[in-house]
Amino acid sequence: MTTQERPPTTTDAGIPVASDEHSLSVGPDGPLLLQDHYLIEQMAAFNRERIPERQPHAKGGGAFGIFKTTQDVSAFTRAAVFQPGAETDVIVRFSTVAGERGSPDTWRDPRGFAVKFYTTEGNLDIVGNNTPIFFIRDPLKFQHFIRSQKRRANNNLRDHDMQWDFWTLSPESAHMVTWLMGDRGIPRTWRNMNGYGSHAYMWINAQGERCWVKYHFKTDQGIEFLTQEEGDRMASVDADCHQRDLYEHIAAGEFPSWTLKVQIMPFEDAKTYRFNPFDLTKVWPHHDYPLREVGRMTLNRNVSDYHTEMEQLAFEPNNLVAGTGLSPDKMLLARGFSYSDAHRARLGVNYKQIPVNSPRVEVHSYSKDGGMRVKNVSDPVYAPNSYGGPVARPDLTDDGGKFYADGDMVRAAYTLHAEDDDWGQAGTMVREVLDDAARERLVNNIVGHLLDGVSEPVLVRAFEYWHNVDKELGDHIEHGVRAKRREKVAKA
Ligand code: NDP
Repeated sequence: MTTQERPPTTTDAGIPVASDEHSLSVGPDGPLLLQDHYLIEQMAAFNRERIPERQPHAKGGGAFGIFKTTQDVSAFTRAAVFQPGAETDVIVRFSTVAGERGSPDTWRDPRGFAVKFYTTEGNLDIVGNNTPIFFIRDPLKFQHFIRSQKRRANNNLRDHDMQWDFWTLSPESAHMVTWLMGDRGIPRTWRNMNGYGSHAYMWINAQGERCWVKYHFKTDQGIEFLTQEEGDRMASVDADCHQRDLYEHIAAGEFPSWTLKVQIMPFEDAKTYRFNPFDLTKVWPHHDYPLREVGRMTLNRNVSDYHTEMEQLAFEPNNLVAGTGLSPDKMLLARGFSYSDAHRARLGVNYKQIPVNSPRVEVHSYSKDGGMRVKNVSDPVYAPNSYGGPVARPDLTDDGGKFYADGDMVRAAYTLHAEDDDWGQAGTMVREVLDDAARERLVNNIVGHLLDGVSEPVLVRAFEYWHNVDKELGDHIEHGVRAKRREKVAKA
């Protein structure tokens, strides 16, 4: 292309600039001039390029795609997105949790798996992980948990002692730590992992009947993982390998897909089910609540501007369309506040006007002004009004789902159900889900992690923790750590 055929460089105001190479100076060797508006604009914009990274889930990437409902689940939800044949545009973001924006994709960590459905009834967000469970069940511990997984105050290093200190003092973490230390703790690629809504949510059908639901996005590429050694190697060879893998596959027309399945629990079962169904550290065993297919999600378009479409992408569990709702899971209820609050802090109060966060339906809210409002509002700016402004339509919403509650105000753990404890489901996973080879890798991963800077009192608690999960597993771990420590002392 000739220079004449290429678009002219302009300032951010669209004014053509005089040079791509030379700043304005007094003579070729003289001082620079403050009136070089383009130079100043370039330097100032550069200084402000980075926005605060997410805390947590800073490192991630994703793509656009489509979700198609292939089965009939209308008996359970009236959501338009889940009616047979419905096709809905989506955007998905995958991420690690503890690492910073430049950290390796292959650190052992859960992966975020967040989906935004641009539905005909407004945006629906399912903000999950690649794990069906989580480390804690009360949101008061979340901030402390994340700090324990990130960096120390004094040396700014990540610290296994801090991680195990928190985990072993929080026995409800056992199921999730077992999961994390197992094969799925380092997925081979984002394409090779499942996504889970993790929490129980509510579905509401056209008759207003309610049920509880758990979302499972099952990878159609098959589950594949990296061993600890492979993960460590990739961290130095290609720290962005998951980002690269997704981008390159989509660019080559090899579109990854996931089949969405749900577990449905009748509304009344929740009270008496053997596990508290709202406890985020537990699954609903498939045997009790089998998976039902809903549809398929395919990712088919890469983002064209990572900053506007990924870095400024904002998910929130409170984006719930008619036919969907919350549950009494305390973690979910707290996330309803904390996600939108995080976006207001990081992106500004009008973050939903950023195109990637905007719904595909018209917005008629009474929100007004604030930093970076770019869409005009019109009068009347209050309700109720007699000038034709928007009016609430309760028939078009289920208001986030309604459930009942009673009791005194307390600070207390959930009421235990018949089989609730911290170790049982972790033990089931070790004994009944993993085969011998996977159990051996689990032991090796835990031993390796515990050898790295964990102090003696925390180590003793860690042995007890694993004995509680499974006696034999605990014995192998204790023996493995003690033997390796003796070896190290002998070599020294
Ligand atoms: P099932 O035998 O029906 O399910 C076991 C599930 O475990 C599989 O479906 C698979 O989930 C998952 N799984 C297999 N290998 C691994 C691994 N290495 N790491 C993590 N998960 C793995 O039994 P239950 O439903 O009774 O659950 C038994 C245990 O399985 C639970 O305590 C939990 O630890 C684990 N699990 C259960 C899930 C559930 O929703 N019920 C979901 C995931 C794990 P998937 O099909 O989703 O890949």
